[in-house]
Amino acid sequence: MNPHFSELLNYFLELKDSIMDFVYPPHCLVCGRYLSEKEKDLCEGCWNSLGIIPDPFCPNCKSFFSDEKSRCLFCSTDSNLLYVRSLGIFDDFYKVLIHKFKYKGKVSLGKKLSKKLGEEIRKDKRFSSFDFLIPVPLHPARKRERGYNQSEIMGEVISKDLGIPFLKNELKRIKNTKDQTKLNDEQRRKNVKDAFKVSFPEMIKDKKIILVDDVITTGATLDECARVLKDNGAKKIVGATLVLAVN
Ligand SMILES: [Zn+2]
Ligand SMILES: [Zn+2]
Repeated sequence: MNPHFSELLNYFLELKDSIMDFVYPPHCLVCGRYLSEKEKDLCEGCWNSLGIIPDPFCPNCKSFFSDEKSRCLFCSTDSNLLYVRSLGIFDDFYKVLIHKFKYKGKVSLGKKLSKKLGEEIRKDKRFSSFDFLIPVPLHPARKRERGYNQSEIMGEVISKDLGIPFLKNELKRIKNTKDQTKLNDEQRRKNVKDAFKVSFPEMIKDKKIILVDDVITTGATLDECARVLKDNGAKKIVGATLVLAVN
């Protein structure tokens, strides 16, 4: 999609939000309480009750790295993706929020959650000194359908927060893969195999990269992205997602 068109579309989605807010008094997306003028999307009570995960975790076995560790104690070999940090666990609360962000055009909510994730990452030494932020891409056909790529919106916000350049088009999705929700880990890995391509390998040579996506479940997608980046010369790859789905 033409980048200007996608920006314009985002603008209209947000405009639609404000018009709807004007017609129907805005209410909290989770508890339904009417919002005050200062609140947006979520009431303060719901916002403050968001569970936050304090540490990164291993994308393979999902064990958490406490005490500033940056290596999994249980997995013997390093994967392409070293560790991932998520804002919260994909519980019923986050399910509502991610659904509104991904499928209902609630871009403002996605930005708010991304800002929170950015703040958490900024406090974590294990996420300092990275060169680039790269979003997990959608296939162009899927992006056209949805109107935006939620990972791009996240990446833009987090990159401002961390002061790290955002490479929006470095990773491309060249296969329009099946929806992964009903697949098991092995099927997911097969599904995303060779689905991605690096645009300019010289850009990422010896660079440290934070990959951004909305949800990590088995880690198959993020791991395949990391593999392609690594095969093209990237030095270190970690991940940042809004939620961790534990299955
Ligand atoms: Zn609420
Ligand atoms: Zn592990």
